[in-house]
Amino acid sequence: MNENINLTMEPQKNIALIAHDNKKRDLIDWCKKNKEILEHHFLCGTGTTAKMVAEHTGLPVRGYNSGPLGGDQQIGARIVDGKIDIVIFFSDPLTAQPHDPDVKALLRIAQVYDIPIANNRATADFIITSPYMDGEYSHDLPDFRRAVHERAKSL
Ligand code: PGA
Repeated sequence: MNENINLTMEPQKNIALIAHDNKKRDLIDWCKKNKEILEHHFLCGTGTTAKMVAEHTGLPVRGYNSGPLGGDQQIGARIVDGKIDIVIFFSDPLTAQPHDPDVKALLRIAQVYDIPIANNRATADFIITSPYMDGEYSHDLPDFRRAVHERAKSL
């Protein structure tokens, strides 16, 4: 029997920003429009996206590796560690990506950890205007440590 654990996101969120090349201008524009909200949160992103958003908006954005060089996986690992609350990922549905498996892995791990993830602008608009943005948000997740313990016992 896996019991859930309750996790609470703080009012100040850790937000990861990612945009594929054809969507970078769109993400920068979205960040400019929402600068007054975003400056109250902690921002990080894949290498090129982080650099471009920081340069064009003046917002501080911690950069990981570029996406095709492991940046999406680094952000996925941060989700697993409980260090990322929200992902804004303007992906390009019309262009093949060399790191498509990493993109899928990121979408999957965000789903596993019940992380809000926007893959287009409309979803990002809904997330950024949510009352949860400047308040706490509590959610239940399966107790994965306990699940490992029980699996190890049962196999
Ligand atoms: P980039 O990576 O920000 O370094 O371009 C984004 C991606 O393609 O996943």
